[in-house]
Parts: sequence; C-alpha cells; structure tokens
Amino acid sequence: MSSLDPFRDRVAGVLLGQACGDALGVPDEFGPALPDSYTPRMTGGGPFGFDPGEYSDDTAMAVCIAEVSSRGADLTAAASLDEIAERFRAWAAGSKDVGAQISRVLARSANRPGPAGAAMLDASRAVAAANPGHVGNGALMRTAVVGLTRVADRDATAAAARAVAELTHADPLGLEAAVLWSEAVRLAVTEGRLDLESGLDLVPVSNRDAWADRIEEATDVDPRRYERNGYVVWALQAAWAACSWRPEPESDPTPRQRLVHGIERAVRAGDDTDTVAAIAGGLLGAVEGRSSVPDQWVDDIHGYGGHRADGLVRLALDTAEHGLDRSGER
Ligand SMILES: [Mg+2]
Repeated sequence: MSSLDPFRDRVAGVLLGQACGDALGVPDEFGPALPDSYTPRMTGGGPFGFDPGEYSDDTAMAVCIAEVSSRGADLTAAASLDEIAERFRAWAAGSKDVGAQISRVLARSANRPGPAGAAMLDASRAVAAANPGHVGNGALMRTAVVGLTRVADRDATAAAARAVAELTHADPLGLEAAVLWSEAVRLAVTEGRLDLESGLDLVPVSNRDAWADRIEEATDVDPRRYERNGYVVWALQAAWAACSWRPEPESDPTPRQRLVHGIERAVRAGDDTDTVAAIAGGLLGAVEGRSSVPDQWVDDIHGYGGHRADGLVRLALDTAEHGLDRSGER
C-alpha cells in the first residue's frame, strides 16, 4: 500500500489494529493470565476453532458497522440502525462465537415485529432491565470504528457510539464505555495522542467521577489485574491498562514497538483475550497508525466479510472520509 499522510495512516490503523489484536488473542480465549515471556501469535484455534490469522466476533461486528458507516451513513438514523441490526443478525446466523448477552438480545428480538433496529433496541432494553449491572463487553468491543464516523464532531461521535451500543447493551455502563472509547479513538486519529479521560464530559455528570476513578486506577498498571474481563468495566480497564503503559525514559520505543507491546500486554491479561486485545488494538492502531502494524500480521489477518488487511483499511478510510465531508473540515 502506498504511504498515507499521518492522519490517514492513523485512520487506517483502527480496524486493522483491532483485527490484529483480536486474532492474536483468539488462541488464548477464556484461558488464564499469561506470563511476560509468552509471545502471542496468530495461530488460530481457541475454544471456537478459528483459522490462523482469522479475527473473531469482535471485529466481525465492527465490520457490520463499518460496512454501513463506510458509505457515509449517519449512525444515529433509524435506517442506519436497521441495517446494522440486520447485519448483526446475518452474521450471528452463521457464527460460532456469538457472545452471551448478544445471543439473548438477538433471540429476544427475533420474533418482534417491525424494523430490525427498533426490535433489537426493545430487546436490548428488556435484557438490560432484567439484568442490572450485568453488562458484557460486546458493545465496547466493536466501537472503535464509530470513532471515525464524525471525526470533527465529538458530540456527534458520542451520539453515534451510544446509538450503536444501545442495540445490544442498553445499560448505562455499556453505553458510556462505548462513548469513552469511541471518543478516545476520534481524538487519537485527529491529534495523535492517547487520552481516555478526554471523553468524560460526554457521559452523564452523575457517572463521571466513577469513570474518572476507573480510568485513573487502570492507567499504566498490569492488565492482568483485571480478571473476568468479560464485564464491560474490567474489559475497558484491562484494555486501557494495556494501552497506557509508559516506557522507561531511555528506551524510546518506535511506534511499532509501542503498538506490538500494548497488544501483547492486552492478550496476556487472560480470559477474554481476543476482546481485550481487539479493544486495545483499535485504539493503539488509531494512535500509532497502519504503518506501525507488523508486515506478518498484515499478511495473515482475515475474517468475516471476506476482508483482509486492505479491506479493513478501506472501510476505515471511507468511513473517516465521509466523516470529514459531513463536517466540512477536519
Ligand atoms: Mg471474540
């Protein structure tokens, strides 16, 4: 691929970084935390028997969103949410690794009349109401690409993140985690820096201090602290812990070393390894760029939708390009 300007290089890193984290985490999904001496590889397998280099549900669902956003659709519009919901259904019908909360929502929405988006939203709200506080990481895991849909407008980005998350994870914790992560991705691609706290003003004031404490607690700590990271809060904290490490001043790592090390830290957290590494990989790709992704990963990555690296890059670039058009400026 020809070289991209720095902004587009970072945009191009989002879905690719997510997919690579995902595929690197697949072999160890639901396993124990892993030692520093362990180097994740895209060898496939895991509990669902993926092929080497294949990404899983996390990136498959992100692709469902990206195939809509890459045409410039407003993700808060009912027609867009209908299409995303229909794509989620089509993916799940042929998938071996649909998460528990998403399975419940899809089953519950299947028999509801009317457009797919409204049916899924009703089901999502019912599931959230019946299980307060039990919130999976399934909306957070697919939200990085939403950070590219309105790159010059943080409020519009937050509204889109909330709308897409609510299709399956209507609990405030699920919505707010998606808003924070999408805003961090938007900021990373526009300004080239990592800052998860920057989106705190986009969550309701009543929950802001709690999120500030969670982010502060997880900054530059060992991601293995967050076991059972299927829970959305611990998934966000594990992924942020993986991304936010601060190198020794004298080590001066390259962008590639920072991306690789961050993703490896995420996988070593154990448990929902592919999801934590997918979440971390989306943000690390956004800040370090497509050019920081190792060639071997680029060669091997593939998955749902028939995409390989160039397809994931194209979806991200097209999404952000429409986001720029919509705003008239970067
Ligand atoms: Mg997965």
